[in-house]
Amino acid sequence: MQAMLLETPKQPLQAVEVPIPTPTVDQVLIRVQMCGICRTDLHIIDGELRDPRLPLIPGHQIVGTIVELGATVTEFQIGDRVGVPWLGYTCNHCRYCLSGRENLCDFAKFTGYQLNGGYAEYTVADARFCFRIPDGYPDLQTAPLLCAGLIGYRSLGMTSDAKHLGLYGFGAAAHIIIQVARHQNRQVYAFTRPGDAQGQQFARDLGAVWAGGSDEFPPTLLDAAIIFAPVGALVPTALKATAKGGVVVCAGIHMSEIPAFAYDILWGERMVRSVANLTRRDGEEFLTLAPQIPVQTQVEAFPLTAANQALEALRHGRIQGAAVLVIDT
Ligand SMILES: [Zn+2]
Ligand SMILES: [Zn+2]
Repeated sequence: MQAMLLETPKQPLQAVEVPIPTPTVDQVLIRVQMCGICRTDLHIIDGELRDPRLPLIPGHQIVGTIVELGATVTEFQIGDRVGVPWLGYTCNHCRYCLSGRENLCDFAKFTGYQLNGGYAEYTVADARFCFRIPDGYPDLQTAPLLCAGLIGYRSLGMTSDAKHLGLYGFGAAAHIIIQVARHQNRQVYAFTRPGDAQGQQFARDLGAVWAGGSDEFPPTLLDAAIIFAPVGALVPTALKATAKGGVVVCAGIHMSEIPAFAYDILWGERMVRSVANLTRRDGEEFLTLAPQIPVQTQVEAFPLTAANQALEALRHGRIQGAAVLVIDT
């Protein structure tokens, strides 16, 4: 099969032919139709996340069809349409797994990081961690739900009932989560890179009551903010824009260093917290909710062999919405 392979971090992916993987008893073999591209893929390729499997097939927003079942798989049948997310395995016995927090599992394995992912024509995945894809969603639109949507949804859940919600970084996750937030009657304030008039217009088109540069102050204090951009300097920026008792949620897996800031901007019971990974419950909830709203993703499609170009476009903020590799239609 054709695959895009990371052999050495900080080097472009290589287009290679590799054998089609064989599923173990717990796994399914999936013919990959689409694979969404995530900022995390860039962090792995850039060597910012430690100890990836090498060589690695990246990609953790996989939409495909099951073509072979492992011996003990009962959840699915051949021909089922499934999604494979970032969370690829948990141990089921550590203190996090036993307390409903499998996203924090000490022994978790992640798709496209410790496990081969979806930048390929086929992949194998543990059936217990695959999601059924809601009917009626085109594959292309579904792929970004599997990480951008899911992590965004988990982050939104950390803002309780915040009415005035700030989103810092208006990419794949924010363009999905604004639709959920609007559905919940929240007012969304979108912050883009300074001067990104097109991104700000995109946010307004999706229902933001205000959109501006991340160097601007919103017209109203925020009840909560979610930071999707991997920029540590946005933490004090968002805290200054957040009202007493509000929370600033850092949704990315990697961020540049957070600069020192005066205690004053945290005082007043403001909180800063991160969101890590997802649980299968997040996935089931979000994939049930998304078609009810319905969330509509804006997607830029690239062929598999253009993965490097797609990643560079994402790096430089040239993707409006989400980038998706189209592998097999
Ligand atoms: Zn565990
Ligand atoms: Zn991701």
